[in-house]
Amino acid sequence: MTSVRELIGSRADGRRVVIKAWVRTKRETKNATFLEINDGSCFSNLQCVFDGDAGAGIATAMEKATTGASVAVGGTLVESPAAGQPVELKADSLEVIGVAPVDSYPLQKKAHSLEFLRGIAHLRPRTNTFGAIARMRNQMAFAVHSFFQERGFNYVHTPIITASDCEGAGEMFQATTLDLDALAKNGGPVDYSKDFFGKKSYLSVSGQLNVETYCMALGKVYTFGPTFRAENSNTTRHLAEFWMIEPEIAFAELPDNMALAEEFVKYLLSWALDRCREDIEFFDKRVQPGLIAMLESVRSSRFAHMTYTDAVKELVAHEEIFEFKPYWGCDLQTEHERYLSETIVKGPVIVTDYPKEIKAFYMRLNDDGKTVRAMDVLVPIIGEIIGGSEREYRYDVLLARIRELGLDEKAYWWYLDLRRFGTAPHAGFGLGFERLMRYVTGIENIRDVIPFPRAVKQAEF
Ligand code: ATP
Ligand code: MN
Repeated sequence: MTSVRELIGSRADGRRVVIKAWVRTKRETKNATFLEINDGSCFSNLQCVFDGDAGAGIATAMEKATTGASVAVGGTLVESPAAGQPVELKADSLEVIGVAPVDSYPLQKKAHSLEFLRGIAHLRPRTNTFGAIARMRNQMAFAVHSFFQERGFNYVHTPIITASDCEGAGEMFQATTLDLDALAKNGGPVDYSKDFFGKKSYLSVSGQLNVETYCMALGKVYTFGPTFRAENSNTTRHLAEFWMIEPEIAFAELPDNMALAEEFVKYLLSWALDRCREDIEFFDKRVQPGLIAMLESVRSSRFAHMTYTDAVKELVAHEEIFEFKPYWGCDLQTEHERYLSETIVKGPVIVTDYPKEIKAFYMRLNDDGKTVRAMDVLVPIIGEIIGGSEREYRYDVLLARIRELGLDEKAYWWYLDLRRFGTAPHAGFGLGFERLMRYVTGIENIRDVIPFPRAVKQAEF
């Protein structure tokens, strides 16, 4: 079937076509009626021009061809006299397939706020903005796979349900088939041996621990899937359900990991700039002026490097501007992260060697005994876009760390096995797909770059 994208990209050779799409706007003048139609194949609409004397059949159909209606338009493809579009359809037939009554269809020609559109998430993909986001999301997912496949990585499918109460990456959602209503009535302790998995289980906050096992066999691997965090915070950066890309590389240390992260981010930005031109131009014009120039400068830049200790020195020197006063040992807040990348570095920066207290148990301990080989990639506006580390591959050190933190070492038996048998330095990171989407679109709220956002008190649709 013909698409608008195909027609707009082809020559105005006078051939007759029938195209099915949705009406975006209708404009009637004395001599002609202009229907702008869009089928989602690209940002642009196809303009269909109907002569004023097209006949009674068309006139009757035209009344129903209002914004949102689905239509089939027949006509010949001709050069367009109008600016900004190479071709248009000189239309001679019109069929309305499904109406969208003006008095009840919520999307009319005027611009709607993103907040309003969040309330009609089932209809918002029909707008310019959400159509562009959806196409770019598709492209960026393709880019992720393309990057790793070109480099010989294997895509590993890690589980979504996990029984190891591990990670400490965030609050977890419990997965249970226990009858909570009945339990509440009876009172008393919960017997998890009666639960579906025979023990307490959760939705995964990260695929990393699982993917490490495949890294120790296949060398270069990645996962790309949904992850879940019961983040009880209403921010524009957090979702309860988001997608994460987690590569893991064997025989690799922190500098290899940093280089991979930089190459990956630049590859993704290049893909957005080169393959999503029409959509990204819209974001540049309407959402974040200067977006294209900013992304272009990042793709040809070198990411700055800074240790956590140096970063905190910079922050402490300007502590008066922060709501949360920085000190060595504090978890960096978004305001700190943004200051480092926007003001100090003026671009992306990789901060490394964080205090072990604020990072996960599996990160490799430095010789100072105080810091771990962690790395966060911070970018302007977004703050943290990637979090990663070199992993602790020494059995004794890892076990000591697990004990020190009071974690249940039995739960980690298989993870520790990786260090008992053929252990090797390895490293990896997690890139939040929706943070990336915010970066390449300039869209402020993370709830607008995923089709159906899940967040505190928000699970509609
Ligand atoms: P932050 O401090 O920004 O909340 P984090 O340090 O908790 O993030 P990590 O555990 O390092 O996050 O997760 C790796 C990546 O996943 C982050 O760099 C970020 O891009 C993304 N991410 C983490 N939590 C969320 C969330 N709730 N919603 C969307 N993306 C997230
Ligand atoms: Mn992090």
